[in-house]
Amino acid sequence: MRHVASLALVVAELTALAGLAAGATGCRRGGRGVARQHKPKVEAPECLTVLSWNDLHGQIGPDEPQLDLNHVAAGGVIALADEVADARAAGEPVFVLDAGDLLGGSIESAMNEGAPVIDAYRVLGVDAAALGNADFDFGPVGNERPIALPGKTDLDRDDGPRGALLQRLRAASFPFLSANLVRDGGQPTGWPDHKASVVLARGGFKLGVVGYTTKETPRTTLKPNVVGLDFETGASAAVAREIVALRAQGAAPIVLLAHASLDGELPRSLDDAADHGAGHVGEIATLLAQLDANALPDLVIAGHRHAWMVGRVRGVPIVSTDQHGVGFAKTRFCRADAKSKPVFATLERRTAISNGPPRTALGREVAKVVAPWQVQVKLEGDKSIATLARACVAQGPLGTAMLEQLARATRAHAGDAAKLPERVPVVAIVNAGGVRASFHAGVLSNADLFASMPFENAVSVCVTTRTGLARAVGNFVQRATRDRFPFGIAGAKVRLVRSPTGALVVSQIAIDGDEKRPPDPAKDEPVWIAMPDFLLWGGDHFLDGITCTSTASSTTRLRDAWRELIAQEQACAGPAANVVVEIPLDRPPNPVEE
Ligand SMILES: [Zn+2]
Repeated sequence: MRHVASLALVVAELTALAGLAAGATGCRRGGRGVARQHKPKVEAPECLTVLSWNDLHGQIGPDEPQLDLNHVAAGGVIALADEVADARAAGEPVFVLDAGDLLGGSIESAMNEGAPVIDAYRVLGVDAAALGNADFDFGPVGNERPIALPGKTDLDRDDGPRGALLQRLRAASFPFLSANLVRDGGQPTGWPDHKASVVLARGGFKLGVVGYTTKETPRTTLKPNVVGLDFETGASAAVAREIVALRAQGAAPIVLLAHASLDGELPRSLDDAADHGAGHVGEIATLLAQLDANALPDLVIAGHRHAWMVGRVRGVPIVSTDQHGVGFAKTRFCRADAKSKPVFATLERRTAISNGPPRTALGREVAKVVAPWQVQVKLEGDKSIATLARACVAQGPLGTAMLEQLARATRAHAGDAAKLPERVPVVAIVNAGGVRASFHAGVLSNADLFASMPFENAVSVCVTTRTGLARAVGNFVQRATRDRFPFGIAGAKVRLVRSPTGALVVSQIAIDGDEKRPPDPAKDEPVWIAMPDFLLWGGDHFLDGITCTSTASSTTRLRDAWRELIAQEQACAGPAANVVVEIPLDRPPNPVEE
């Protein structure tokens, strides 16, 4: 397995130089000194560059990712602009592609429903973006409305279930691509600038780009926001049709720009096939397996997993970057002359380091266009919520106090969704995946809270029974991993047993108050589960096999409910109090790792 180069300033991994006959091209790679003496000729450049990233999630200024042992300022649209400018300065035609989930996530972008990203990309000259699941997160126009009123459609424009996204599409200088997104029944969406594919002509090249949106979208955004849309029926046929049509138009190379990924361990290099003898699995693998050889793309730019991958599927190079514009990929295709087909040449893994003000004119222009958005939200983002004596860890193998606090906040606001009945217990459960970052000790700002919970989910309830609760908890426990317990719970205590295989099994769920008023074992008594609406709409398969006899959603965002409780408690550190895991004594205390 390749070890990722440990270099703090620029992590540039040249992963391959493949498929190009030696000497068959006049590529100017490495010819810098020559290029300075003679002005580069522009009439027939032999190589093109594709710069790509995915899962920007509204990142404007730099993020602070951990690279090696340090946290380094990197990513965001301003840092990316510097990198785009550098690539263009090299003289080859440069195509800039985004594989989706660009709009939501940062406080700047979420408060303005993605508008700052559209502004930045116009200046940056992004050529096309795939539609990602999270790009549907905003619902109708207006930050105070996460979902549309029932019965509203796209004809209701700003009030419709995609009002905010359609505004962004109308304002964008680039097309949003998705070949597999249609209306129920197969009709095109008819949205402004939603296309299945596009041909980008530049410097004598015709790059074909086909978009794809994950079939998981209805389960990974708010379900009401994708009402009436179909991401699944005929998806691979639609992709194949576009690729064949683009090829017939003479487009080459053809890129599949997909907001979807492989599953399991991701490939790390183009020759990684040996490490994955069983072949790749996951949505992109399935999709490519369904395409005829003549309908395979020349490159897949993937996303959605927020993780680097570099590899091949059915021989087609595939790449995805981490997130927030921290990483970006630079892929080059070269040809011997203007008549021959460009062939995959190199793929570089890069990091957009941000060591201060923008280095290039383009970086400064992007910084200028996003500045008003940043000023607008800075006041809001800098507001202090609490001063924490200790750091709060978001995820842990047995749950965390931080997740439980979010569950308590959700429980406290269950009554915002529906009038709570007397004498019926309310148990709140929140998904660990909804909490994205830990809190440092010290002042906790609104922006910190936002970074931890960038989602627009609201408090909802499902009316079920004790059996329903047990099944829902069981659904979640199956998702436990070694590092992450999958939920936080309030209003009940869950006792689990670690089985000999290492898996967790629920042994008891004790609802608060049971000790005073034990449940009648002959009756399946009612229970209300309070939860993020994400779970109510089918997220994480939490409610699989459970019937909610009634459901209700509030407009109270989980983030706001949580803010209130953190401000009250001024703390969120420690282990979970409501989750206990037993390791039975008749088994070795440290089960053998599988
Ligand atoms: Zn995604």
